Amino acid sequence: MVNDLEAVLAENFANILFDGRQAEVRFFGFECGGGWYGLVGGTLLFIQQYSRENKLDVVIRQVKEKFGELRIYLRGGDEIVDIATDIAGLVSRVICESCGCRGKLNEEEGWLRVRCEIQCDELQVKAENFETYKFSYAASVLALTSLFGLRSVEWLKTSQMAFNGRPPFELLATTEGCHEVVVHIGRLAYGVGV
Ligand SMILES: [Zn+2]
Repeated sequence: MVNDLEAVLAENFANILFDGRQAEVRFFGFECGGGWYGLVGGTLLFIQQYSRENKLDVVIRQVKEKFGELRIYLRGGDEIVDIATDIAGLVSRVICESCGCRGKLNEEEGWLRVRCEIQCDELQVKAENFETYKFSYAASVLALTSLFGLRSVEWLKTSQMAFNGRPPFELLATTEGCHEVVVHIGRLAYGVGV
């Protein structure tokens, strides 16, 4: 990930990225494209807040792309924190790793990568473009895990009539989609017919 994006993440999430027992804050490398900046940020935001509320001592060990998917490795979480990282992996399948637009999994010279259809450029990705998304995404993970708990991933993968048969994880690629999912979960939680 380009350095200025990494710097913003490192600053915002220093308390979960770095082991506080270390005297010096070492450089934390995000081994994935900047297009996933918002998804990484939203996930870390959820984990930071959740671990604070539940008094968990979470340390993120590694953030990387593997087989075209975002992987977040950590220690000190619980089942819900693990679910949050699983959701991020699922959603990364539909976000261009390079620019953050909607994308799909392609094979490029033997490597699996999620890319959009235009020639995009990671260097154009700016942290501020993803501020709203980051919060909307974190809010949707909170709503999901509050209602579905350990079944969150299963629900996200299941085609839903409310979204014209789409599996909800696809909607989590955009701010608007995250909002739609939160509203829908609110209806389900309050028993409003959908
Ligand atoms: Zn792109």
